[in-house]
Formats: sequence, C-alpha cells, structure tokens
Amino acid sequence: MSIAKIQFNNSYVKLADVFYSKTNPTTVKNPALIKFNTALAKDLGLTGISTDGLDALDFFAGNKIAEGSEPLAMAYAGHQFGGFSPKLGDGRAILLGEIIAPDNLRYDFQLKGSGRTPWSRGGDGRSALGPVIREYLVSEAMVKLGVPTTRALAAVTTGEEIARNTLVPGGILTRIATGFVRVGTFQYFSSQGNQEAIKQLADYEIDRHYPEAKDATNPYVAFFEAVVDRQAKLIAQWMSFGFIHGVMNTDNMSIAGETIDYGPCAFMDNFSHSRVYSSIDHQSRYAYSNQPKIGQWNLVRLAETLLPLFVENSEHENTEATDDEAQAVVKIAEDILSAYSVSYHQYWLENMCKKLGLAEAYESDAALVGELLNLMENNDADFTLTFYYLSQEGQLPQARALFTKPEDFDMWAVKWQARLSQESINDAGHYALMQTVNPTYIPRNHQIEAAIRAAEDHNDFSVFHALHEVLENPFELQEGKEKYMLPPEKDEVVHQTFCGT
Ligand code: AMP
Ligand code: MG
Repeated sequence: MSIAKIQFNNSYVKLADVFYSKTNPTTVKNPALIKFNTALAKDLGLTGISTDGLDALDFFAGNKIAEGSEPLAMAYAGHQFGGFSPKLGDGRAILLGEIIAPDNLRYDFQLKGSGRTPWSRGGDGRSALGPVIREYLVSEAMVKLGVPTTRALAAVTTGEEIARNTLVPGGILTRIATGFVRVGTFQYFSSQGNQEAIKQLADYEIDRHYPEAKDATNPYVAFFEAVVDRQAKLIAQWMSFGFIHGVMNTDNMSIAGETIDYGPCAFMDNFSHSRVYSSIDHQSRYAYSNQPKIGQWNLVRLAETLLPLFVENSEHENTEATDDEAQAVVKIAEDILSAYSVSYHQYWLENMCKKLGLAEAYESDAALVGELLNLMENNDADFTLTFYYLSQEGQLPQARALFTKPEDFDMWAVKWQARLSQESINDAGHYALMQTVNPTYIPRNHQIEAAIRAAEDHNDFSVFHALHEVLENPFELQEGKEKYMLPPEKDEVVHQTFCGT
C-alpha cells in the first residue's frame, strides 16, 4: 500500500494547550492489513491511498507519521455509569489530524489502539483485535442503515499480543468522525472552572457543526438546542433498529451527534425492553428502554457546563451572574431539556410508524406500536425479523410464526390492518415504505462473535469479510445469505458483550 499526500488541515491542535497532549503512536512489530475501506476513502477524497507499497500500512499501524499529521490525544472527563471522573481523555486513541473532504466537511482521523498516551492511566493504550472487528462491522453497518456514526477507514493487526484475560492479538482501527468532541470534553473544563476553555470549545463546535447557531440571539443557547435535537433524533434511530449502545457514559456522547464508541454495543435478537448485553452494566443503567432518558441525563450534564454562556447580559461578562440571571438561564436549559422529551417521542413515533407502513404518524399510533413491542417481548419474537416479515407482501404467516402465542399476534394484526386502511397510500406503498426502514440484515451478535473468534483464534478473516459484505446492503434480500437473517440457535446466543479494555 502507499499513501500519497493526505492534505491535513488541522484545527484542534490550534486550540489552547489544555485541550490535548501531543503524543505519537507507538510503533508495532509486524502489522498486517485486515481491511481498507476503499469506498470511504473515495468519499473523503483520499485518492492518494492505494493498496500497493507499504507506507499506508505503516500509517494505519502508527509506525509512520504522515506529512502534515500532528498526532495528539484529546482531553476529556466524563460520567461513567453515573459517577464523575474528572480526567479520562484519549487513553488508547490518537488523533492524527483532520482533512477537508470534497463534501466540504472537516473529518478527524484517529487511530484507536495505537499505544499509551498521557491519559492512559494504568491501561496499555492498545486494543484487542476483537473490539476492532466489532467496531468495523457495526459502525459500517450503521452507515448503511442510515444512522449517524463514526466510521472505519482501516483495520490492521499489530503482530503483537496484548494482555487481557489471556494474551490476545492486538489490532488498530482507523476511525473517521466529523468530530470527536464529547459531552465529557465540556465537563473536563467545567470541573476545573475553566470558563475560557468552555467558551473556546463551544465556539469551535459551533463553527464546525452548528454554524447556523451564530445567527441566533444567543448562539450558545441555539447550539445547545441543536445538540439536544441531534441526540433525540439519533437515539430514536437506535431504538428503531433495536440497537443497544451499552456504554452511554457522557464521554461517549458526541457533540456532533454521531454514534461513538462501539465497546459493548449490540443489536437485539428477541425483543425485551430491559435487554442489556454489556458485562459491566450491572445496574442495567444502559438497558434498551433506558436509552432515551439516559440521553437526556447526559444532556443535563452538558447544560450544566454551558449555563454561564447562556447569560445574555454582556455587562456582567467577567462577573458572577446575579440570582435572577442564574434562574433565568436555568429556566432556558430546563425548557430545552423538556423539549427533548417531546422531540424524541416525535422522532421515535415517526420511525416506528414507518416500520409499520404508516406514512403519517398520529399520537394514537404509539399504542399500536407499544402493543406490538409488548407482544414481541411476551412471545419471544425476534425484533428485526418480525418487522422484516411484516414488510413483505404475503409473509404475515411467517411473522405470526415468530410468536409463541400466535393468536395474540392475530389480534394485534387486525388492529394494524384497520389502521393501514386509513392511510392514503395503497398496500404496495406500505410495503415499499416499510422496506426502506426495516432491514433484512443487522450485525447480529452471534455472527459478530463468529467473526471475532475466527480472527482472534485462527487469524482467519474470511468470516469477517463475508459478514461485512452482507451488511453493505442491509435492506436487500441477498441470494444464499439466509443464515445472516436468522436469530441465533440456542447454543449460539451471545448473552454478554465486553468492551475489551
Ligand atoms: P471507553 O470505555 O472506551 O469509553 O474508555 C473510557 C476511558 O478509558 C477512556 O479515557 C479511554 O481512553 C480509557 N481506556 C480504555 N481502554 C484503555 C486502554 N487499553 N488503555 C488506556 N486507556 C484506556
Ligand atoms: Mg469512550
């Protein structure tokens, strides 16, 4: 492989020193490429990267610093499972730099698993191969499902073993994001009382992701409102695909509104509101149905850091806000946070209605959706497959057969048909609509696990490649790929996922 010039155009490194630590990746012994995302490279305008020669491999392994790259580890704090850690930061990730792509957006290049940084604490700064495989598969599947996410540009093995429960092969993922600033980045400065840094960070994020906020009376209020709206929309999408993030700590909530950090994430097979996969989520804090309210909890933490910027009256810029002002800004934040519940519910309702072929979403439809979800839960029905069969003309019996008490499903189906008949579109229209939002394939846990086992235990990436290929077109029925649609057999069920740190 070779990399011609990547035109780095770095902005984060121009912020004050307190925002990051300059850190180079640590070299690895014997890297090998698992996968390079040619399509993404093309979208990013990286025509200079090709797969002959060796320097691109060295770049993705952290063995070679490309010209224009200014590697750094970002500072951040975060609430982890509700408890505040004032100092987290990139302990196993290094930002190599940024580029401006042909779409005129700025993208961050990050290596994950490239060695220790000043933020590593007791960690080795490395990533096991398993989590690299999981993140590559799931993040790229999310793209194809239409969910905002960080992306995978390349995955490599390091040729080195790292210590986890046992010795496991190491891997490095090259992640691309429209930005890696998190709620926890604001919290880092807030907990230190560094108002200047918070303002600088907010201005940076407004410039980069929310430029329309600049025209508002108070740009910071408009910024917060827009961040809240993106999160409401994002989490409503997760819910509509049965996705459980698994570790919605504030350091894993992106200000740009992308899904970030694919540690113990999972898509559900048989539906349950309270489903948890993460091995470390002992209190079920991040269970499927808790996600919307945890999103709001995290946004309250963000609001707390932004309150000083909400004070309108610039006369007091360098003095404490008066009690009246303080109350007024708290009210502004509270109103926006209440609006989150309303907009989340609306996004969720629209998504779920589309999944049932309803182009128009009415509040009364929430009951129809809720009833189906409860039925799935009580009847052990597979979430993705139920919606898939509902989306296919003539396949209602297959949907019915997924329910342990099919008569219960029949009663629901009568109500559903009645509701469909009130819509202005015809049956073909309902099916067409449903097929755009109900995937045939999702990255099922047991398939990911099989890909990880083959890679970690046998250095065999064929399972990974085959699964990845299917997930490239999640809404299309692909010949000979039936096994990827199916829920796991009893002995294949994955009950727990691990973040692999
Ligand atoms: P995460 O659970 O991935 O959100 O990570 C939480 C914090 O732990 C972040 O500050 C990470 O950088 C840090 N961390 C996770 N794994 C490692 C590791 N292997 N070495 C160093 N730091 C790590
Ligand atoms: Mg994280």
